Amino acid sequence: MYPQIITYLLTFINYQEQLIRTLLTLLIGKSMFEKPTEQPVNKPYRKLQVDDLPVIEVLEQLDYRVLLSEYLEKNGKPLKPVQRRKNAKVSVPKSINCPKCGAPSDYLYANNGDKGQYQCKVCTEFFSEKNRFSKEAILKCPHCSKTLEKIKERKDFHVFKCKNNDCSYYQKKLNGMSSKEKKRFKKDPQAFKLRYIFRQFYIDFQPLSKESPALPAVDLSKIYASPHTLGLILTYHVNYGLSARKTAAIMQDVHGVMISHQTVLNYENSVALLLKPYVDHYPYELSDQFCGDETYIRVNGRWHYLFFFFDAVKKIILSYPVSPNRDTATAIRAIDEVLVKMKEIPENLTFVVDGNPIYLLAQHFFAQHGIAFDVKQVIGLTNEDPVSTEYRPLKQIIERLNRTFKGNYRSTHGFGSEHGSVSYVTLFTAYFNFLRPHAALEGKVPVVNPELNRLPTMPARWTKLISLAQQWIMEQQRTA
Ligand SMILES: [Zn+2]
Ligand SMILES: [Zn+2]
Repeated sequence: MYPQIITYLLTFINYQEQLIRTLLTLLIGKSMFEKPTEQPVNKPYRKLQVDDLPVIEVLEQLDYRVLLSEYLEKNGKPLKPVQRRKNAKVSVPKSINCPKCGAPSDYLYANNGDKGQYQCKVCTEFFSEKNRFSKEAILKCPHCSKTLEKIKERKDFHVFKCKNNDCSYYQKKLNGMSSKEKKRFKKDPQAFKLRYIFRQFYIDFQPLSKESPALPAVDLSKIYASPHTLGLILTYHVNYGLSARKTAAIMQDVHGVMISHQTVLNYENSVALLLKPYVDHYPYELSDQFCGDETYIRVNGRWHYLFFFFDAVKKIILSYPVSPNRDTATAIRAIDEVLVKMKEIPENLTFVVDGNPIYLLAQHFFAQHGIAFDVKQVIGLTNEDPVSTEYRPLKQIIERLNRTFKGNYRSTHGFGSEHGSVSYVTLFTAYFNFLRPHAALEGKVPVVNPELNRLPTMPARWTKLISLAQQWIMEQQRTA
């Protein structure tokens, strides 16, 4: 009886809202009521042609252990690590080692202060994080095997080009031009891309660096609500996608719990902090088919991108970063969050994404770090190429996920802060993976947990999920 009343009320509230909107539209006229920025300007991503990966030839390397033992033999005493003054301003991060001999950070001088130049005490090599790759490997054109030349240095990447006139890539492009294009090419050669290009990324990011989870210090006893009340609030706000204001109203009107919408948002933040490490480090059983997509959300009055990556078979959300930009760095982060959840990287790993070149650039970034996977791009709305035809069903799966999210998120009318958006997306992910039955899984929840499933109501399941996350955090703290 109870849930029926609620369903009725929800329907009624929605109906009322529609009625008010309709009346207002009639009274004031359409333009005033419509939010002018309801839809983001659909900026097409810059058309960028991404070529195949270059041939990466690893240079011969020295071994610092051999060098150290040679030193000992020659001098009769070991080479000491770099002595650092106690309050030296510049420290060498532990993660950095010498690109030439592999010496650990203890043997590295911070050469010119904070500029990121280092010198290795063992092999005397100078290097920086930006040029370290060129000390480890040379890049060759995949079409003609000539060494690529660096032609541009940008903030996050360097651009390499094959300048060989006999390169088959260049010859093919040159011969493929119409006479009209050739004329234009003479006047404006910059307008054409005829040569093989490779962008090497220097994003300060170490892939697959499984960090131990940041364990939050959230004290839910500060929440002046019973676990059941908290469960109810989460059910309305996340499962049913009611805004914080409506959630507060229904708590007052139906349950007699006096609560402000700000309190709802505070609870949302606390619970998200508590659930995030559990959601992110849960040992998910995964398939090898993954898809990703971006959707728009509004944060502080500006459009942001939410990147969802998702196991297409198991229906589990694996990464959900929010970023003001639709850029390669975020694509890399999103894919990395999927990769760290795998017990091992499967051989035929494939990501199905849209036509945005950032995913190809991300693929190159991981290949540079020895992590290989395939990227299938489903382009446009119609199947104009065989790849799009084959992988569109996977793409549609994630588009459906995006619609589900939007359905829940719509009522929130955007987020007041980036933090708030992350909180809501975290709770949505927890709900989606652990609580929400999925039609494609025969009505099962993606992560089947009998402890959750045997509970009769959603508020009870939220309460249980919170306590599972708390238990997990305590276990982590014990083993740390
Ligand atoms: Zn060295
Ligand atoms: Zn070439």
